[in-house]
Amino acid sequence: MRLILVGPPGSGKGTQAKLLSSRLGLTHISTGDILREATRQNSPLGKVALPYMRSGQLVPDDLVNEIVAEHFRSEERPERFAMDGYPRTLAQAASFDQVLRQQFLDLTAVLLFLVDDEEIIARMTGRWSCPKCKATYHVVYNPPRSPGICDVCGTQLIQRADDKEETVRERLKIYHASTADLIPYYRAQGLLHEVPGMGDIERVHKAVVEILKRVGCS
Ligand code: AMP
Repeated sequence: MRLILVGPPGSGKGTQAKLLSSRLGLTHISTGDILREATRQNSPLGKVALPYMRSGQLVPDDLVNEIVAEHFRSEERPERFAMDGYPRTLAQAASFDQVLRQQFLDLTAVLLFLVDDEEIIARMTGRWSCPKCKATYHVVYNPPRSPGICDVCGTQLIQRADDKEETVRERLKIYHASTADLIPYYRAQGLLHEVPGMGDIERVHKAVVEILKRVGCS
């Protein structure tokens, strides 16, 4: 099974990609995670990506396309995967098509997660995490016992720079301007399936599994 998960930042596609990988044995590929790790390590890639990520902009297509192409050229190239956060533009989709063609792999489905912008803003701007033990919290859905302090290790919680409200609004603007082009692109290929992204994680996962059953998988 080879899936692409498309949706605005904070739509839950990352959570669903992780569930699909643990329950269905797919490799979870998140370009956001790869780029965040590169910035943590302050690698040459990380240095280029950091200013884009901080301001909520997309990292240039060439850079992200190369990261993904390299992944698929490597020995541990995934055969069954859930792509999370890639492709995000038409140029990336075209590049990914080419990579898959070279590897004789075809896509099973593209899952489009639908969540209202205002819900996204409420979800994302409430996210805080512990810089030490990486525990995550949400001021409304999963608050720490003492405001601003990690339950697990007592460290002061921080907010990801790209979860600040103005950055979230910018990321949504960019999503609607660039990623929305992917919808007609994949719909025309008969691959696109809409997933209602509101509601709890298990409910959304069930909706995904139903879709996968309909397309003959899972
Ligand atoms: P994510 O965790 O997927 O929301 O990604 C976090 C940030 O990484 C994005 O706001 C972009 O700056 C960058 N990024 C991740 N994936 C891509 C991509 N496919 N194309 C361009 N930038 C990306």
